[in-house]
Parts: sequence; C-alpha cells; structure tokens
Amino acid sequence: MDCIFCKILAGEIPSTKVYEDEMILAFRDINPEAKVHVLVIPKIHIPSMDAVTAENSAYVTHIFEKIPMIAKEAGATGGYRVISNCGADAAQSVPHLHFHILGGQQLPTHIV
Ligand code: AMP
Repeated sequence: MDCIFCKILAGEIPSTKVYEDEMILAFRDINPEAKVHVLVIPKIHIPSMDAVTAENSAYVTHIFEKIPMIAKEAGATGGYRVISNCGADAAQSVPHLHFHILGGQQLPTHIV
C-alpha cells in the first residue's frame, strides 16, 4: 500500500519516535508547526476520521487514552492542542488517520 505512514510503521521510512505500543505510534512531525508537534497514528490503516467504525474505534479510544502522556513526554507541559484533519476542505495530506499534538509554546487563539 502506498501510504507514507504505513511505511513508517513498517520501518521503511525513518521517524523520530516519541511513544509506541501494540496499537499506536507517536512520532515528531517532519515539518513542525509548533515547538512540540507530534503525530499519533493507529497501527492499522484507517484512511481518516470518516473511516472510524465500531470495529476499529478501539484504536481511537486508545490514542485518546495515551495522548496526555505522549504530549507531556514530548514536552507539551503547559497545555496542548489536538487536531485531526479529515478530507479535502481540512487539507488532509496523508490518508492515514492521525492526530496532531501541538504545544510547547503559546498557540494562537484561532486556528482558521
Ligand atoms: P495532515 O495535513 O493533517 O494530513 O498532516 C500530515 C502531516 O504529516 C503533516 O504535518 C506533515 O508534515 C507530516 N508528515 C508527512 N510526512 C512525514 C514523515 N515522513 N515524517 C513525519 N511527519 C510527516
């Protein structure tokens, strides 16, 4: 499958790992938009939020259970923002479900 995040999961493309377990991987964004910018992905290919179902939502639940720990481990100790871009209008550029964790600095009040 020609998915860059699946290639990261397979070890075919390097990443700077922040956290990993049996269900998820968290790694630094290659083009950070804040001092802390981490991506959290499921270890199965879910194309976007639109593809979350009762069958795969345990991965999403697990991601959200781990996000507070991942954010702090990554350096977002003063707060953080979680974003998932879904589809063209949201400018989703990688079609593998991912959650951006942004922090490590004062973020702008508005994101659009
Ligand atoms: P989105 O635009 O919401 O789909 O976010 C995709 C994110 O993946 C962007 O912030 C990219 O900078 C990031 N990205 C793309 N390729 C890589 C990579 N090889 N390693 C780390 N982050 C990446």
